[in-house]
Amino acid sequence: MSFFTYCPNCKSTHFTFENNFRFQCHACDFVYYHNIAAAVAVIFTFEDSVLFTIRNVDPDKGKLDLPGGFIDPKETAEEAACREIKEELGITVAPNDLKYITTSPNDYLYKNVPYRTMDIFYECPLVSKTVSVTAKDEIQDLIWINRKQIDLEKIAFTSIRKVIESYYIY
Ligand SMILES: [Zn+2]
Repeated sequence: MSFFTYCPNCKSTHFTFENNFRFQCHACDFVYYHNIAAAVAVIFTFEDSVLFTIRNVDPDKGKLDLPGGFIDPKETAEEAACREIKEELGITVAPNDLKYITTSPNDYLYKNVPYRTMDIFYECPLVSKTVSVTAKDEIQDLIWINRKQIDLEKIAFTSIRKVIESYYIY
């Protein structure tokens, strides 16, 4: 199964796209790599609690997520994290406020295109629980959850579930 029907260069249907990774047209020799996309996620903490967002868009609308998103071309991961936080929560965070935690791969199906991402995780302690949503189209709500009460089943993505389980669950 491929999300391309035709070669984008010559319109031939004579191509292979193994594992949705390396597209090769056998008519014109066009080659396209559907490479891993880099994304960032920020784990805000306050005392024993972690801040989750509730997704307002598919995939996994209604499930728990973290603030963050895809890294734009020419951005550093830290710049992307600060930009996404500003867009989603309206707060200003400096790159130095972010502590690198780990990376974790994820599958992200968006409008029938299977993206594979490498999610880069940062932690950022906050001095209060007062945060609100700016990007209401993307985020339904915010929820602080005590580290002892996090239900992994309610978390949208495998990458986030793994990192929360490994680093944040007592
Ligand atoms: Zn072609």
